[in-house]
Amino acid sequence: MRIDKLISECGIASRKECAAVAKKSGISVDGVVEKNTARHIDPDTQTVTYLGKKVEYKRYVYVLLNKPEGYVSATEDERLPPVTDLLPPELQKRGLFPVGRLDKDTVGVMLLTNNGPLAHSLLSPRHHVEKEYYFRAAEPLPEGVEERFAEGLTLGDGYECKSAKIILEEGRRSGFITLTEGKYHQIKRMIASFGNKVVYLERVRFGDICRENAPERGLWRYLTEEEEASLVALA
Ligand code: URA
Repeated sequence: MRIDKLISECGIASRKECAAVAKKSGISVDGVVEKNTARHIDPDTQTVTYLGKKVEYKRYVYVLLNKPEGYVSATEDERLPPVTDLLPPELQKRGLFPVGRLDKDTVGVMLLTNNGPLAHSLLSPRHHVEKEYYFRAAEPLPEGVEERFAEGLTLGDGYECKSAKIILEEGRRSGFITLTEGKYHQIKRMIASFGNKVVYLERVRFGDICRENAPERGLWRYLTEEEEASLVALA
């Protein structure tokens, strides 16, 4: 990997700034000053310092985004902004993509990473990673929905959902649903199977990562090392 690419992807400086700093002997590789920022190095075995500080390169990056309405869970889209637009340029260069999909009007906890195998594994139904949603529906839900969710609902197109948990709030119009799978529009279709409609949907938890620890809507942060470890354990 080029030295200037490594430094810019770590968000330390732009490639242009790197070149200027290197000219003044501000960059070294394994303790030796390097003025050619186009030189290729191996970040796993070589140490780059920038103005005396070690450049810590992480191959895989994990981000928690509090998704706002109006963004699509993708890296590009023809009509609407993708969630990756909410990341700073240096992160956009790292090839992050959303782990699973949220509809454009769904808000809340969304993970992004460039670790493809881990993302794939987290989404595999075999791993039963829990995804919890807070919803509000247009009408109250009938008695007995809890049992119907637990048994596994059959959707309009005949799809048989895995057992899921629903906890209703007073008034039976809102509550929390926990799934271990993630089919297209699943919560909306589950609620629609009662002749009802979701009017608000927020993902409040992905595995152990909860909205209480999420940044404000529209903002992102890196996962902590413990959170990263919890994802690896789930996968
Ligand atoms: N279920 C839905 O219907 N939409 C989402 O965005 C997530 C789960």
